[in-house]
Amino acid sequence: MDVSKIKTHDVLIVGAGLAGLSAALEISEMDPAVNVAVISKVHPVRSHSGAAQGGINAALRFDDSWKGHLYDTVKGSWFLADQNAVRILCSEAKDVIARLDKYGALFNRNEDGTIAQRAFGGQSRKRTCFIADKTGHNLLYTLYEQAMKRNITIYWEYFVTSMLIEDGAFKGITAIDLMTGELNYIQGKAVILATGGAGRIYGQSSNALINTGDGIALAFRAGIAVKDMEFFQIHPTGLLNGILITEGARGEGGYLINKDGERFMKNYAPKFMELAPRDFVARSIHLEIQAGRGIENEYVHLDLRHLGKEKIESRLPQIREIAMNFAGVDPVVEPIPIRPTVHYTMGGIDVNNRTQTEITGVFAAGECSCVSVHGANRLGGNSLLEAVVFGFISGRETLKFIQNRGLNTISKSLLTTEEQRLSALLSNSNGEKAAPLREEMENAMITSFGIFRNENLMQSGLIKLLELQKRYANVVVEDKGKIFNLDLVRVLELGYMLDLARIIAMGALARKESRGAHFREDYTKMDNANFLKHTLVRKDESGALEISYKAVNIEDIKPLEEIRY
Ligand SMILES: Cc1cc2nc3c(=O)[nH]c(=O)nc-3n(C[C@H](O)[C@H](O)[C@H](O)COP(=O)(O)OP(=O)(O)OC[C@H]3O[C@@H](n4cnc5c(N)ncnc54)[C@H](O)[C@@H]3O)c2cc1C
Repeated sequence: MDVSKIKTHDVLIVGAGLAGLSAALEISEMDPAVNVAVISKVHPVRSHSGAAQGGINAALRFDDSWKGHLYDTVKGSWFLADQNAVRILCSEAKDVIARLDKYGALFNRNEDGTIAQRAFGGQSRKRTCFIADKTGHNLLYTLYEQAMKRNITIYWEYFVTSMLIEDGAFKGITAIDLMTGELNYIQGKAVILATGGAGRIYGQSSNALINTGDGIALAFRAGIAVKDMEFFQIHPTGLLNGILITEGARGEGGYLINKDGERFMKNYAPKFMELAPRDFVARSIHLEIQAGRGIENEYVHLDLRHLGKEKIESRLPQIREIAMNFAGVDPVVEPIPIRPTVHYTMGGIDVNNRTQTEITGVFAAGECSCVSVHGANRLGGNSLLEAVVFGFISGRETLKFIQNRGLNTISKSLLTTEEQRLSALLSNSNGEKAAPLREEMENAMITSFGIFRNENLMQSGLIKLLELQKRYANVVVEDKGKIFNLDLVRVLELGYMLDLARIIAMGALARKESRGAHFREDYTKMDNANFLKHTLVRKDESGALEISYKAVNIEDIKPLEEIRY
């Protein structure tokens, strides 16, 4: 597969979700003359941001302050979040909501015209702004409209296959135009990776099929450290097929009930009950089912009936629709069967508070990055906020970076290597199919690196992942055609996921403690003395994986030794 087109822009943004579009808007508002291109493997409004239901956090009420939001976020993170980064997140939240409002986001309102806010897990105040239960959908369309108004080029259905770095600096990316099958070289002075999460590594999950962690793997392959990947959020309330039922359902007052009709959260988090942070609630549901108090030994009930039809229809209309269409129950009259579902990538590309990675000209924002504001457990409503706050910041920082810089020329040999890699993949006819490999990876991940982990399970998981990586070297792309070759896309995505799966495994095995989403049956306590630190995994010169650690930034909030809700 040869490069058939070369394109040139000042700034490249990979990803057209909330983070990527926020970055693009910031640049074009600050300097409309800058030539920005957004590249996305799907049409922008199909990015996973559009699936966000429950809302976006900001301290807006008279009885609230961003410092309260900061405290709740740091405690919810099991003290692993960097406090200077959380300070930026929370203190900029109010202005960001005002900016989204100005752009035309249709936030729900109170009678007096102020923006309405609902309760969310782990928060001591109602601070989640929402647009019914379709918050992400509305925000994504709003930002996309704004992007269309401006001088922003969008290449959609372009799949990025590599990020090209030479002499320690960013040169450009290669991307397949899926419509024609042509390989493009897109060069720029800087890139912002905004490629979202990697939930699909675990197979069934609340995530879209496109959430395969591509950008995290691209950065890793380029030699950038990946941070805290062992922390993978499992959301408490998914339907049995994995589809998400928003935390907003509990925020509006929904109950979790076991087979005896008991609100069992009183035994696990007596103060916060159903609105304890997600890691607590997910583990509690799992333990109830394990103890034989689940329904059909498989699930528990989310009961919304007492909220009444009017509230369900006005605040949770999509949840009602999803429950009726995918679980066959109408929440107005029946409880919804739910169980935990894989949801969110807390770790990601290691960046500083200015969204810079360690490679000159490479920035990252949104779910693919780890700045880190979520630490070991993200609070609901904080990731849409992160995507927008740090999306804008990445735009500003990139703009500063490209001042007085010219384009970097690239050695032809770098492009040739990528052309040859893709050609070899396409020409292989005698290897293994990708689908079974993928299924084995998903099973290994959910079995060995799920809600409860231990040394034996994880060791056998890692052995399996290493075996799969070897087998992947001989994988076959069955479709040899050019137009919309999704078979090729799925194979490339599987390569990205296998890289990340191994990083998750390494970090999880090395972290001999329990913290947030990483719960070990063999080390059940949080261990600040040894593990209040970020995990970094990177490739060394020989291509081997290397693990190291980095201190957590602590400002005013002193880490506790034990966490209760
Ligand atoms: C069902 C669901 C509900 C959620 N609800 C909430 C909520 O209520 N509140 C909240 O705060 N958070 C919520 N989240 C999390 C939140 O939606 C995400 O963390 C956030 O939207 C991520 O935004 P992003 O811009 O980083 O990435 P995304 O919106 O995922 O966008 C990623 C972009 O990268 C592009 N891309 C990826 N790989 C490639 C490639 N190889 N080549 C080209 N393009 C590529 C994609 O095309 C896409 O445009 C929810 C998540 C899910 C799954």
